[in-house]
Formats: sequence, structure tokens, C-alpha cells
Amino acid sequence: MQGGRPIIGTCPAKFICRSSGPYGASPRSGRILSPMGIKSERTAPRVLIVEDDRDIAELVAAYLGREGLSAVIVGSAEEAIIECAARPPELLLLDLGLPGADGLDLLRKFRESSTAPVIIVSARESDEDKIAGLGLGADDFVSKPFSPKVLAARAKAQLRRAAYGAGASASGARLIFGPYVLDFEGKLLERGGSRVPLSRREFELLAFLASNEGRTFGPEELYRAVWGLEHGDLSTVAVHVQRVRRKIEDEGARPRWLVTIPGAGYRFKREDR
Ligand code: CA
Repeated sequence: MQGGRPIIGTCPAKFICRSSGPYGASPRSGRILSPMGIKSERTAPRVLIVEDDRDIAELVAAYLGREGLSAVIVGSAEEAIIECAARPPELLLLDLGLPGADGLDLLRKFRESSTAPVIIVSARESDEDKIAGLGLGADDFVSKPFSPKVLAARAKAQLRRAAYGAGASASGARLIFGPYVLDFEGKLLERGGSRVPLSRREFELLAFLASNEGRTFGPEELYRAVWGLEHGDLSTVAVHVQRVRRKIEDEGARPRWLVTIPGAGYRFKREDR
């Protein structure tokens, strides 16, 4: 592309560092699907870093690499649009203050074609920017200056959420427990053909635990996985567990499905398992 030289620095070999543009020479890193549609090769999730400060971008890329993620760096919204069209990323880390088009403009455009998680990483700390970003479909907001380690952890949390959602909907899976049918694709819970009213978070919490049946998750893990946030009020998790129980359990004091494991967290179990 003319003008904007891509930001490429000294990247450890495991990163994909390449010039932006649709037909770069780097190897494909997208997931390879077998004819059955089953993932036959696992590759590192691709993160697109849109950041015009080269030092920051490279630092973030290094931390993402330590977390097993591959990073592509572009320095402008225009380059990002080309890169996204050529190889849609699985996560977008987006600086708002960019040369040329604004980060929020890019976010708006990105959301026209992608549901991949977006984390805004910006020095603009005003609430208006946060609200604008979240309203346009950003999933998280990190203010500069930030800890790259925390950002990498939040990136992983967003990818975990997205992967669990995609896995559930790709399989069109339904999970039946007791009188309930949990429809991952339709994002709803039914009992006797009627919808059980769950809020989005309540559904996501139940769906996450149910899709990881038998595994116990602590409040921190659930907070990261379901809320996609690294830090916050963990009591939210317990509150939501209680709300879901009130809707699905006959006896809240002795839950059959959403079980508390003392000192460890929560687990979903079907009685027939
Ligand atoms: Ca900037």
C-alpha cells in the first residue's frame, strides 16, 4: 500500500511480523478445517495490534507472544482495514488516536464484518470515549499507561470467551439436563417448550459452566471467562450464580445442577453423569 509503512520491528521468531497488505508473503496462520469441519490443526490465535507508537506495539506483541498468541502490527486504521479484509484477526487491540482515520471509525467499520473481540487501548480516558467505544461494540477498554502483562491477560480472556461462544454455536449444540434444554446457538434455555428468562450474563454463565461440565471454576476464572474482565467485583459471580439457581433449581439450598464446591468455586453437573 502506498504511504503508510507498516511498523515492523525486531520480533521473536514465533510472531508473525509482516507488512500489511492483502497478499503478504507470510504463511497462512488461519485455522485449517478438515472436510468434516473439525479443527485439524491448532494455530496461535491472531491478534491485530492497531497502534502508531511502534515501541508500545512491539512491547504488547512481545507479551502476547509469551501468552502463545501471534501478533500482527499495523500503524493506521487504513492499514488495519486492508489487513482485516485479507486475514480477519481473532482479536483486535485498538488504539484510538491514530494518524488518519480515527480508531472509533475503524471500530465501526470492523464491526460491519466481524464479531471478534475488540479491546480499546487508549490514552483517552474520558468516559465519553469509553462509552462510545463500548457502544460501537468494543468488549473492553484499557487506559494508557497500562501494564502489558495485564493487557495480554485480558486479551486471552476475550479470546477464551469468543472461542467458547464460537464452539458452542458452530456445533449447534443443545444440552439437555433434567427438564431443561440449553440451546447454545439460540442462546436460550427452555423448559417444556417455554423459554426460561435469563439475562445475557446469566445465560453466558450457565452456558460456560454447562459446556465445561464437571469442571470446577473459581470466581476469578468465571469472571475472566464470562465477563471477559481481569479485575473487578468478584461478588458479581456469586450474585449471578444465585440468580441462575433461582430460575432453574427447585431447591436453591440444595442445587442439583449449579453446584458449589466449597473453597474452589462452581461446577455444572448433570445427575445422569
Ligand atoms: Ca496513538
